[in-house]
Amino acid sequence: MDFNYVLNNYQRFSAYKDFNTLKITLSDVLPVFEKLKLNFLNIAGKSELGNDIYHIKVGTGTIRVLIWTQMHGNESTGTKAIIDLLSFLKDIFFSEFSEIIKSNLEIHIIPILNPDGAELYTRENALGIDLNRDAVNFLAAESKVLKSVLDKIKPHFCFNLHDQRTIFNVEGTRNPATISFLAPSVDEARSLVDSRKVTMSVIVAMNSVLQQIIPNHIGRYTDEFYPTATGDNFQKAGYPTILIEAGHYYNDYNRVEVTKYNFIALLQGLYFIATSNNFDNYEPYFKIPNNDKKFFDILYRNAYYQNSIQDVGVLYKYKVENRHLKQYSEIEKAGDLSDFFGHKEENLNGNLLLL
Ligand SMILES: [Zn+2]
Repeated sequence: MDFNYVLNNYQRFSAYKDFNTLKITLSDVLPVFEKLKLNFLNIAGKSELGNDIYHIKVGTGTIRVLIWTQMHGNESTGTKAIIDLLSFLKDIFFSEFSEIIKSNLEIHIIPILNPDGAELYTRENALGIDLNRDAVNFLAAESKVLKSVLDKIKPHFCFNLHDQRTIFNVEGTRNPATISFLAPSVDEARSLVDSRKVTMSVIVAMNSVLQQIIPNHIGRYTDEFYPTATGDNFQKAGYPTILIEAGHYYNDYNRVEVTKYNFIALLQGLYFIATSNNFDNYEPYFKIPNNDKKFFDILYRNAYYQNSIQDVGVLYKYKVENRHLKQYSEIEKAGDLSDFFGHKEENLNGNLLLL
């Protein structure tokens, strides 16, 4: 696939202008789904507060892929990326590429698995359950919906789409980790079981395309085993599960640019699955640099703060006011932060820090 061609024509199909915000809810996406005239848009189940959880199907191939977004309600970049994807697959302009995907794959998408959390702008669902730590007991209504779709489809591949915080850089660089990948572990020993190797080979393919577009802005998320996490358990059950963490890009706090990179990663992942006979090339996965945590949103150097001159790291936080997001600043850490970076930096030269 010619990704330059896709990128050069991105404006054609991307809906991102409608989504220049971090808070994306069902009421934002449903009109877009309607406009796209999707052939298959069913309701897979209900959230704890009775909101619908949708299930979209595209393609007629024999390889089944399951993608879900926003299992963490406040992580919306994946939802924006799948809207790009659906729009791309509908656009006759790209039919040469999209037919290859649609004829080989049957793609199932659950957009906004956690619609209540999306509305409240919380990671957890309305009962305070983290859906990504609920894959053993399936206590939450939303987890049960995901499990029922998984059991019905028995996908050959899963994509679990998340957002990561702005604190992550690519290890050894001062580049933000704009996209990070993870092939979740199935045990404490992080064993290289077959489903993990297959997952890694898809990530290797996605990474090789992204490195050409945003070189050295791609990281590898920690593969520490989380016994109740979704990816870890689906992987353990033999479903290769690719985790994509959309992160920060320069001045892109609403993750508009990042949506594009998330979309490209997803598109290449699907294209690779649709066209490759070989999922053995997993070793380059370990060459992708690790994520590190070296960023603050603002780093004030040599600030007069709490009766001494020190560095102060600030992070942006968000709260919902009248259904809209409000950004505010919070001091995260003070001291000698010479090993850290700020997306914005200011040297106060001993002057008082006023937030
Ligand atoms: Zn998440």
